[in-house]
Amino acid sequence: MKILVINSGSSSVKYELFDMDTGTGLAEGQIEAIGTDTTFLAHIQGKKKIKIPIVAKDHTTAINEVLAVLTTSESSIINNKDEISAVGHRIVHGGEFFTEPVIVNDEVKRNLENCYDIAPLHTTHHVKGILAIEKLLPKAPQVLVFDTAFHKTIPEYAFLYALPYKYYQRFGIRKYGFHGISNQYISERLSQIVNIPLEKLKIINCHLGNGSSITAVNYGKAVDTSMGFTPLEGLIMGTRCGDIDPSIPMHLMARESLKPSDIQAILNNQSGVLGITGISSDMRSIIKKSEEGDGRAKLAINMFCYRAKKYISSYIGVLNGCDYIIFSAGIGERSPLIRKKILSELDSFGIILDDDKNSGCISCEGEISSEKSKIKIFVIPTNEAIVIAKQTKKLIDSSIKNM
Ligand code: ADP
Repeated sequence: MKILVINSGSSSVKYELFDMDTGTGLAEGQIEAIGTDTTFLAHIQGKKKIKIPIVAKDHTTAINEVLAVLTTSESSIINNKDEISAVGHRIVHGGEFFTEPVIVNDEVKRNLENCYDIAPLHTTHHVKGILAIEKLLPKAPQVLVFDTAFHKTIPEYAFLYALPYKYYQRFGIRKYGFHGISNQYISERLSQIVNIPLEKLKIINCHLGNGSSITAVNYGKAVDTSMGFTPLEGLIMGTRCGDIDPSIPMHLMARESLKPSDIQAILNNQSGVLGITGISSDMRSIIKKSEEGDGRAKLAINMFCYRAKKYISSYIGVLNGCDYIIFSAGIGERSPLIRKKILSELDSFGIILDDDKNSGCISCEGEISSEKSKIKIFVIPTNEAIVIAKQTKKLIDSSIKNM
């Protein structure tokens, strides 16, 4: 059974084709800058990497190019697009409505409208991907896998904001949490590696990429997470501010005569480590600048690490102790420096890194804590696409059984 996983963003489509009989990825890639004159398709198949300039005016033409490279290029992996048995989509926001993966049908499409209200930007782009597949692969069932679903177990006292309750009732204003698919992968992978059931583990997951979040997982269930109603809350990120005093936006609006859309852009696209350094949102560039003596770059790193340390420390309290801390995503997987800074001076909690293991682990999978560390520390490269492919297969298999 071949399953195509699609992550459809505003101007990009990421894809990965899996052979689910063996559970292996056959090819992956992405198309960026959809709708512009500089669109290209970057395709990876084993050790082979190709970059093809394409014309993709919209998501349908872009996904058509993906199917073309999978079927007709010299490296074609399938002979015919009909070999794709099903398509799994990553959906960022399922609101309170979607707490499990679902097979797309008319009712699901109607109910996605609930998510337009709370996450209009993400939902619009996901829907473009769904409609494109409907046109291009009309026989393939489509499954939606939601990033918010992993956080459905967060209790009400942790997910509610102390606003008038009517806003939760009317508009669904509450913490939802994101990076759920990544959380699921790294939690389950840790359980496999240490050979202890998830139901017996207290874990703190640190997903640190362009977007970053930390999640407390108590015996397999998310109990709190740093992102909130949107991915803006919590940690300091590449361009997002994370936690701030909620009165700051109103103050800025008054001082600079700004509109809500200006504030939205400042908090989402001009803040975070980019806002502090004025140089870049990319942690690699910031580390380099800091090593060259740039004071603001150093400050941004200190702020990023301090905020992460605060969340980890508070989640140790939330969990009443913790067995494992996992680092994942671009920064978490590849930056020994950031991991070391985040976990510095936490030895009173029994958190002690092994410096050699830590510095030797760049995109590795394994333990980086000292033998003396009570809380064990792991790096686990995330793999959201395989989770989506597995959930898609599971749902399709059970729907066939129930027919
Ligand atoms: P996204 O949230 O877009 O999926 P990623 O998980 O790919 O992001 O993470 C991107 C971030 O990881 C960027 O800030 C990038 O600079 C950072 N990163 C990648 N490699 C390294 C590295 N070797 N050291 C420090 N940061 C890194």
